Amino acid sequence: MDTVRAGNKGYSAEMLVVTFNHVKKTVHDGSKIKILLSFGQHGRELITSELALSLLYILTEKRKIAGVDLSSFEKILEHLVIKVVPIENFNGRKRVEAGEICDRRNGRGVDLNRNWSVDWGKKEKDYNPFEEDPGTAPFSEPEAQIMQELSKSFKPHIWVNVHSGMEALFMPYDHKNTTPDGAPSHLMRSVLENVNHRNFQDSCLVGSGGGAVGYLAHGTTTDYLYDIAKVPMPFTFEVSSSVVSVATIMNLY
Ligand SMILES: [Zn+2]
Repeated sequence: MDTVRAGNKGYSAEMLVVTFNHVKKTVHDGSKIKILLSFGQHGRELITSELALSLLYILTEKRKIAGVDLSSFEKILEHLVIKVVPIENFNGRKRVEAGEICDRRNGRGVDLNRNWSVDWGKKEKDYNPFEEDPGTAPFSEPEAQIMQELSKSFKPHIWVNVHSGMEALFMPYDHKNTTPDGAPSHLMRSVLENVNHRNFQDSCLVGSGGGAVGYLAHGTTTDYLYDIAKVPMPFTFEVSSSVVSVATIMNLY
């Protein structure tokens, strides 16, 4: 478990990063699938961090998951390195806990899911600064800098940015209403459709964030991860209390 800190202009942020690596001599580290799971990017989405805690409890205590055979679960874990960021926006969460219960931004009013560099700063007609202030420049915010650095140092194959408020499984893009071209994109979609079918009886929205939500978002995490960091499978999961399930995440593999 590491605590990572960054700051600028009198503002600082810190983040806890938990690494789960089930070491087995028979499985070489270089052959493992690397997964980053991030929760709590928006301050008010408290339930996402509760999900992170449940997941960490299951990973460390080997608690039984309904519908998942424990021995095959452990076998899968031997082939994974999982990094978990339980609360990406710790300062924003503190604001929510202090009474700003509808605030999703960071400790100085920036939406951390608009502060990344792909199509940064573009504003739609219905732009609401209270909801989606992109900051003064791409990666102006320490929290976004820490996450960008994680994408470079860890180089995950899969990244799931967990939000709440809808029942949806999104893939790029957010800044346009299409998905990327080519086979990797088709693979992403089939993974999501499989997860949706196996866990939710096809009840979740699946597709590009920009196409399925009904509005475009600029400067988002997953668009950067796909286009610039070249993460093969960057997803945004939108959970609600009725669909929260750790089995959902584990069933990705
Ligand atoms: Zn959100």
